[in-house]
Amino acid sequence: MGKQYRVRVKSLNANGNGVVEFNNRRFALKGVLPGELVTMELVYHAKDTGAKLCEVLEPSKERVAPACRQFGRCGGCQLLHMSRTAQREYKQKVCETLLGEFGKVSPILTAENPEYYRNKVHAAFSFASSKKGRSLKATQGAKQQGGRMRGENSRNTIVSGIFEENSHRVVPTEQCLLQDRRAAEYLKTVRSLMEQTQTAPYNEDTGTGTLRYVFLRFARATGQVLMALVTGTNEFPAKSRFAAEIKKKYPEIVTLVHNVNPAKNSMVLGKKETVLYGKGTIEDVLCGCKFRISSASFYQVNPEQTKLLYETAIRMAGLTKEMTVLDAYCGIGTISLIAAKTAGRVIGVELNKKAVEDAIVNARLNECYNAEFVCADAGDYMVSAAEQSQSPDVVFMDPPRAGSDEKFLSSLVKASPKKIVYISCNPETQARDLRYLTGKGYKVKEICPVDMFPGTVHVETVCLLSKLHEAKHHVSVTLDMDEM
Ligand code: SAH
Repeated sequence: MGKQYRVRVKSLNANGNGVVEFNNRRFALKGVLPGELVTMELVYHAKDTGAKLCEVLEPSKERVAPACRQFGRCGGCQLLHMSRTAQREYKQKVCETLLGEFGKVSPILTAENPEYYRNKVHAAFSFASSKKGRSLKATQGAKQQGGRMRGENSRNTIVSGIFEENSHRVVPTEQCLLQDRRAAEYLKTVRSLMEQTQTAPYNEDTGTGTLRYVFLRFARATGQVLMALVTGTNEFPAKSRFAAEIKKKYPEIVTLVHNVNPAKNSMVLGKKETVLYGKGTIEDVLCGCKFRISSASFYQVNPEQTKLLYETAIRMAGLTKEMTVLDAYCGIGTISLIAAKTAGRVIGVELNKKAVEDAIVNARLNECYNAEFVCADAGDYMVSAAEQSQSPDVVFMDPPRAGSDEKFLSSLVKASPKKIVYISCNPETQARDLRYLTGKGYKVKEICPVDMFPGTVHVETVCLLSKLHEAKHHVSVTLDMDEM
């Protein structure tokens, strides 16, 4: 053990880590709270020196015992050692620090149910003892046929869970505090089926084994569940057995798909998918609209908070039947179809083809005749809309974590809508984009954070921007020659 140093935690950074100062240097410390006196030791990495918590000497009154045994190991939650009040205040502060320069930040809309809220779950698989598992998997290699475990290997217990932070080691989780409660039972059944059918977990390093992930999506309003069994290769000899058992045991799993993902990245789903039974989609109801959802489409993960988020966004837009609305980054058309109830015409733009297909079906499902959907890059679409002088009255934009790009933003400014409602899951990139828009004639009128992801550092925000009135007259100055 290295030398330990006493430090006091000054504040928390945007990743939920404590900020401490030592020897005129700042360090980020995991698992601490502001004001706490702690001991830490220095950890030397190849390029940098970090710090690791040893002991909390004076705990904050906001410290609580984490309700999950895996807290600190798995990368899913960062704030379970914090009271609900402290979590709320922390997220409010993050939003005020990043977005306060644009105006007052309203109090965060907190979640009544901070646990088991996630309607989307994915779990990875591995053998229980990683050391033993590794050597066995290594010997499996070429000998393995169709990804089956053989002989001695079958004695290995299979575990499922989320990856450890910054690694691809599976942290076994029986019951995750964020995921829909039903997930644990389904995963247990899948593990047991793997053992019965000698289906090995897929090993990313060696490309051997079979089952890589299970992906689940729950439609809370209808109770329907979509399950995807994701394998690392096309080979999945036991798939019919899995399908038969799952269908019989869980009638609410209305569709089961086989997805193949051989890619060496952290995406869960691959491109290739076949339906084992059911329609390959599920249907949910949100804000009074029905939505068909495919596995590959984006759908917000916390339905109760999504309702608050969408209601806030729609209220900010102040829609009337005379208005044309653009819903950029529209996914399966959720905001579009809710907006279409009070707007004149809605155009949704989305890059993911599957999501656009869902959006078109969703318009039909809701008998909505004033919404249309375009499969395109939002930036490309916006450029041609601006060139053709198409000017929507209101633009909703809800880009991924990276935020929007200059192509989109510059043509958005050209198209010059009266209002922009900007929804974001990353206040850092949102602040960058707001800086651009406020520099080009827009003013931020309202900023509202929504706690969509309790237990984690993540926060959703929705901002309303209005176009500033253009100067009515150009003041031209003519100089009198005599004055020169
Ligand atoms: N507004 C939707 C989806 C938001 S998530 C909802 O609330 O459900 C962001 C969406 O942007 C995803 O569906 C993603 O596929 C899409 N997307 C990502 N990059 C894009 C781009 N360059 N152009 C258009 N859509 C994009």
